[in-house]
Amino acid sequence: MDFGLKGRKAIVCAASKGLGRGTAEALAGEGVDLVINARTADTLNTTAQEIEAKYGVTVTAIAGDITSEAGRAAVLEACPEPDILINNAGGPPPGDFKDFGLDDWRRAVEGNMITPIALIHATVYGMMDREFGRIINITSFSVKAPIPTLELSNGARAGLTGAIGALARKVTHRNVTINSVLPGAHDTDRLRTNLRTNAEKNGVDLETFTEARANDIPAHRFGTAAEFGSVCAFLCSDKAGFITGQNLVVDGGAINATL
Ligand code: NAP
Repeated sequence: MDFGLKGRKAIVCAASKGLGRGTAEALAGEGVDLVINARTADTLNTTAQEIEAKYGVTVTAIAGDITSEAGRAAVLEACPEPDILINNAGGPPPGDFKDFGLDDWRRAVEGNMITPIALIHATVYGMMDREFGRIINITSFSVKAPIPTLELSNGARAGLTGAIGALARKVTHRNVTINSVLPGAHDTDRLRTNLRTNAEKNGVDLETFTEARANDIPAHRFGTAAEFGSVCAFLCSDKAGFITGQNLVVDGGAINATL
């Protein structure tokens, strides 16, 4: 299927590794020129070079913290008129409600709610003028099924989801869509780090713990960044123009719910 994206321009935030990189690669595979971002310049530059070499698209690397105003300004300066915006960032730290102070909540909301809202605000009206736009927020399955140890993430991401629900309907008559994709467990550095920490905490060897976690998922495996990226690329395609305001769970069946 031709996704009709050749020659389009995308901003992909937090894209040197993991789900962001998977999404950047899937878009590059469809001929989309990219501005990618992450904080660590070395890793980001290597990723940009690898994607450019593999897919023959233009990839501009903008190093910086996307949760800062300066980081967002730099990305927008490199791509002031994107056709596609992929919102992504690291998630807030784990912990317990009892121990979180208001500053922890402010940081989580800044990173996982205000940051995507700021980037949407800066780009969505231009997309409407140009009559094409695709915005995807990479959030988490925790929006539908709260994770007890990730209350900061549950709250900030649910806040973003609520904040853009009406907007997604206001902009779509101009061929602009806004959707969120909710990852379950995917095999990325972040997941591997979490598995190591939790295996140690539970006194179980890493391999046994990892296998048990994978087997808890009806698919009996973790998702891959490439699979995740392909879902995002489809939602960005000209084939998906009638899908807006949705929250698509990609979790191998982990959330046990009919709707
Ligand atoms: P990952 O493998 O650790 O990759 C994170 C990427 O984001 C890296 O490129 C990292 O590069 C960049 N990054 C992190 N914070 C950033 C910031 N403030 N500004 C710019 N770039 C930043 O993580 P992942 O597994 O792909 O997760 C991506 C998002 O999905 C996270 O919010 C995570 O909570 C969420 N999620 C993941 C899973 C999963 O199973 N993987 C499940 C549910 C939700 P630098 O460190 O160099 O900045």
